[in-house]
Amino acid sequence: LIRVRSVSKFYGGAKVLDEVSMDVRSGEVRCIIGPSGSGKSTLLRCLNALTGFDSGAIVVGDTRVGYTERDGRLLPWTPRQAAAFRSRVGLVSQHVNLFSHRTVIENVIEGPKHILGVPAREARERAAELLARVGLSDKHDSYPIQLSGGQQQRAAIARALAMQPHVILFDEATSALDPELVGEVLAVIRQLAAEGMTMVLVTHEMRFAAEVADRVAMLDRGRLIEDGTARQVFSAPRSARTAEFLSSHL
Ligand code: ATP
Ligand code: MG
Repeated sequence: LIRVRSVSKFYGGAKVLDEVSMDVRSGEVRCIIGPSGSGKSTLLRCLNALTGFDSGAIVVGDTRVGYTERDGRLLPWTPRQAAAFRSRVGLVSQHVNLFSHRTVIENVIEGPKHILGVPAREARERAAELLARVGLSDKHDSYPIQLSGGQQQRAAIARALAMQPHVILFDEATSALDPELVGEVLAVIRQLAAEGMTMVLVTHEMRFAAEVADRVAMLDRGRLIEDGTARQVFSAPRSARTAEFLSSHL
């Protein structure tokens, strides 16, 4: 479903992604691990067309991310094209960005109604189903500020799902939460995995990664130094660097 080929990206003189290549298959849960500053968030932002890259290619489904090919030339996407693409590749990040002046259900309805053009009534019915799935049936009319961190995060997941995404990207979706709230968000992710949703998770929760991931990639200073099944990466990592990282994160 996703093909990343030799993607490099610079910020100023710094190479933050260095020839990264990686695949994500349909229905797969792919975890990306690695130390702080290794480029994990940057890679997700590239997948989501939130930011561009300097060389290489990313293909999601049959869409070449960031560029349109015309007469053999690559034209960069307009902000409008990027926004349309992003709606199909959900991103749930550490800091929830629900609309604070709208209720939970309005947050979930917003995208389908205005971007996908779903009729209001249908959007509302779907939103109610999605909120039930993430355990927020009793919170339709609450405002984000009235929810716990874990509830806000689950509302953000429902909002991403409402756009019927091909894939959902999670960038440390639990790292800003109190430990007792982490479990409820992980439970929703686990359930989505069981339903066959394609997901890319950046996480520091190694136990969770080991449990839920089909395959794991490790970034270190912008380079992909490990790529394998969860079992292989966690029990027999190829590089000493990965082994060292894992032993300091258990
Ligand atoms: P963390 O685990 O701390 O979230 P990360 O692996 O997600 O780290 P990134 O956020 O992708 O790391 O950052 C990779 C590198 O790119 C870092 O050195 C960071 O300082 C740099 N960087 C990220 N965003 C920008 C930006 N907008 N401008 C300049 N440099 C940036
Ligand atoms: Mg990050």
